[in-house]
Amino acid sequence: MAARTRLPPETRWKWRAVVRGIITVDFPFPQLGLFARVLAVVFRRGADPACRDFGRGIPGNYVRTASGAGARAPPAPSQLPGGFAGGRTVTRKNRVVHVETATLDNVSLRFYDTRARTVRDFVPLNEGRVSLYLCGATVQAPPHIGHIRSGVNFDILRRWLVYRGYEVVFCRNVTDIDDKIIRVAGAEGVQWWEVSERNQRAFTYAYDVLGCLPPTVEPRATGHVPEMIGLMERLIERGHAYPAGDGSGDVYFDVPSFPEYGALSNQRVEAVRAAEDGDERAKHDPRDFALWKGARPGEPSWPTPWGSGRPGWHLECSAMATKYLGPVFDIHGGGIDLVFPHHENETAQSNAAGDGFARYWLHNGMLTTGGEKMSKSLGNSLLIPEVIRRVRPVELRYYLGQAHYRSGLDYSEESLQEAAAAYQRIEGFLTRAGEVTGPVPEGAPVPDEFAAALDDDLGVSQALAVVHGHVREGNSALAEGAKERAAELAARLRAMLSVLGLDPSAPQWAGSEESGLREVVDVLVSVALRQRQAARARRDYAAADEIRDQLAESGILVEDTPQGPRWELKRG
Ligand SMILES: [Zn+2]
Repeated sequence: MAARTRLPPETRWKWRAVVRGIITVDFPFPQLGLFARVLAVVFRRGADPACRDFGRGIPGNYVRTASGAGARAPPAPSQLPGGFAGGRTVTRKNRVVHVETATLDNVSLRFYDTRARTVRDFVPLNEGRVSLYLCGATVQAPPHIGHIRSGVNFDILRRWLVYRGYEVVFCRNVTDIDDKIIRVAGAEGVQWWEVSERNQRAFTYAYDVLGCLPPTVEPRATGHVPEMIGLMERLIERGHAYPAGDGSGDVYFDVPSFPEYGALSNQRVEAVRAAEDGDERAKHDPRDFALWKGARPGEPSWPTPWGSGRPGWHLECSAMATKYLGPVFDIHGGGIDLVFPHHENETAQSNAAGDGFARYWLHNGMLTTGGEKMSKSLGNSLLIPEVIRRVRPVELRYYLGQAHYRSGLDYSEESLQEAAAAYQRIEGFLTRAGEVTGPVPEGAPVPDEFAAALDDDLGVSQALAVVHGHVREGNSALAEGAKERAAELAARLRAMLSVLGLDPSAPQWAGSEESGLREVVDVLVSVALRQRQAARARRDYAAADEIRDQLAESGILVEDTPQGPRWELKRG
């Protein structure tokens, strides 16, 4: 075993590839097939990042503990909720081993799973169907661009899954009651639900205007109190929750009763800090968190067997995810800032109640300003309606979606404008290609390297490199008069943009009132340009220049090309 672990990673990977090849063969002799399977188990601890953590945490296997105080070993995939679909767990000489039957040949999608802390092959629970839960908005204020980044990231994920042939059931919740909503309502002297309604509309507008497809279902917390009561009953029955003994109506999750607590956020249960639940009215342990918050005078409340109160933030997500996606579902998403305590508490509640819950945890990085989390102190300048005065919605979508979803994105006005310019270059090529080669068709296949980038943990930045490569090559093809090549590149470009939700010809971006006006302006500008051509033909350059200057003053830039003059609106 020692000799094997000293092999360089590349060598081990090559051997693993050979073994993988062997085990895909349908052996005529059962003994030989068994031998190959044993080899597959032995070689499982190789360097393939998709399987790197296979076997960790299994008694008797090598476990490398993550560094840092309070860190714990990653769980073995067979210990993750739902395990690896396509595999089976067997016991051999008192050791539990997981025999993987899915191979890299039949699995192309891979995601970084926060819980496993590695990239894992993605195999959905049900063939052809993916269930996806995303923590949505707490609607205490209208959204700024930082709130919508995860909406855009997960919209791209959803579109890619659909392109890959999956039916996607997408549930994104709305937290329509919480401390902040109650505070805002109190400050304004209005009902809590007025605040929730108003801001939920602002969020829906923001998602819509940025081209995020609506969720299959968008449940609100206050509509799911019976499901939350049911979950609390199960937890109390199993000894993982308790109603406060002081009659406050609070119900708490008993953290020390659940040794797995901390597994998602990579900390030992002993190292977990006290839960920030305001005053600790009747907790058994400072780490215990509120499932349900007992009513305070003047606050909205709903009756439960333990007294009136309102939902805790964590409980509602477990209850709604389970109601719409089932006790085990494929992907749970959200911002990286939600890993602890929110997602740790969600998974603790559901797992302790006996539900497998999420099989893969995907978290997007934060959008910051000057390295800091976006906050209200920035004023209104980053609210969605304000930002789309400075760039078009499609350009803002490009900006928010361009980086790898797991990386941080630091906002500056320059980077926003650069993104807008990058999108305009893509759009410019498609417009010119359309003028030269005719309408660019829909539905072409995306290039292999683009597909490979998105299959590999949704590598949008690498996928965009393929997009821009096509734009550069397409512009050269147009300059050289290679019409067929330009048409082919334009069709593939449109297919890629469609997956990213950025196709300029999609009704979302092209069918707007603005595009209707564009047609009217187009007619007026062509009249002016014909007059300019006539002036030049009679060598009256002063008149020709005057027409051009007047158009520029109205915000219309004229460019002379071999195909004749074309125009575009000056932005900014
Ligand atoms: Zn949530």
